[in-house]
Amino acid sequence: MIAAQCTCGFTELADEEMSDHLLLVFEPHNSRGNDGLVHEERGHLECACGLAAITSEELDGHLLAAFTPQDATGSDGRRHAPAGQEPAAP
Ligand SMILES: [Zn+2]
Ligand SMILES: [Zn+2]
Repeated sequence: MIAAQCTCGFTELADEEMSDHLLLVFEPHNSRGNDGLVHEERGHLECACGLAAITSEELDGHLLAAFTPQDATGSDGRRHAPAGQEPAAP
C-alpha cells in the first residue's frame, strides 16, 4: 500500500485514510455536491443521489468527486489534494 499524503501535511494512518480526511474537509454541511444533488451514504454502499457502488472505495471516490471544490480548498481555508496531484494554481 502506498503511503498517501495530503498537501496540507496530513499523512494517511492505519485508522484514517486519505479519502476520509478529504471528505472531512470538503463535505458541505448540507451534503450538496457541485452538481446540486445531495450525496451521502444511505444504506449499504448507496448514495442519496441513487448511485449504487460496488466497493467502499468507489463510494468514497464518488463522494469526493461530488464535493471537491474546483480550487480544492477545504472548509478550513487550506488546500487539500493528494501530494503529487495538486490542482494547477489559478
Ligand atoms: Zn451521489
Ligand atoms: Zn489535507
